[in-house]
Amino acid sequence: MQYNGNMRTTIHCTTSITMLIMLMVTILLALSGCMMPAQSNNPAPDGRPSQSSLPDGTDNVPEATSRPTRPDPSSLQTARVVDITDGDTIRVRLQDKVEKLRLIGVNSPELSHPTRGEEPYAQAAREYTRQKLSNQTVLLEFDVQQNDQYGRLLAYVWQDEEMLNMTLLKEGYAQMVTFPPNLKYVDFFRSAQREAIQTERGLWGLKDDLGSSASSKGAFLGSTSSNKYHFPECDWAQRIAPSKQVWFQSRSEAALTGYEPCGTCSP
Ligand SMILES: [Zn+2]
Repeated sequence: MQYNGNMRTTIHCTTSITMLIMLMVTILLALSGCMMPAQSNNPAPDGRPSQSSLPDGTDNVPEATSRPTRPDPSSLQTARVVDITDGDTIRVRLQDKVEKLRLIGVNSPELSHPTRGEEPYAQAAREYTRQKLSNQTVLLEFDVQQNDQYGRLLAYVWQDEEMLNMTLLKEGYAQMVTFPPNLKYVDFFRSAQREAIQTERGLWGLKDDLGSSASSKGAFLGSTSSNKYHFPECDWAQRIAPSKQVWFQSRSEAALTGYEPCGTCSP
């Protein structure tokens, strides 16, 4: 009897411990079951997977403009950014050679323009590019021409799935300028710039610096043959035949009409 009683007590205790362990396991499973869906069902606000969001959170802004898809990395060149010259120009180490690189399709305000000195928003544009690219490894995509007339690389600069050329336009850190024949993403660039103008982002939110010769006709003068617009005092503007002149009241109006800033007077 004594023996049987001990056996029964032992079996009873073992059963209790087993049930206790099972209960704890059940609770743990239930807890983890509650937490896991909360992590996996948490898409970015715009519906894309959260893994594509950038560390600085800028990707959380709702996007009206669709963006280009990055080509396969095997078709791109890997480079290391070693210096930021200004918003649209950097220096990269590519295959053990340091080269100057101009981003295709964009023109950021210049820090030391030959006649205008430091242009409005130039510091902000450089700082933005510095914050994005300093010491980063990037993927370079070339278009028809790999170099411009000054020997600089001409490229689209990709970081993960984001192309900085496009971002500069979308956030208003640059105006769009076409680099024929390097026109692969022109339609994307145009819609990114339109979005920036309409929401007055970056330089599009600045009050226009109208220059010294703004007239009753307008603040900026364009040429229907070149599709460029100028400060009226620009040498190139003075050569536009009257029949080819088109006046704009603002940069935004010129850009939305499809005109690009003159490379000389940099309006
Ligand atoms: Zn000009």
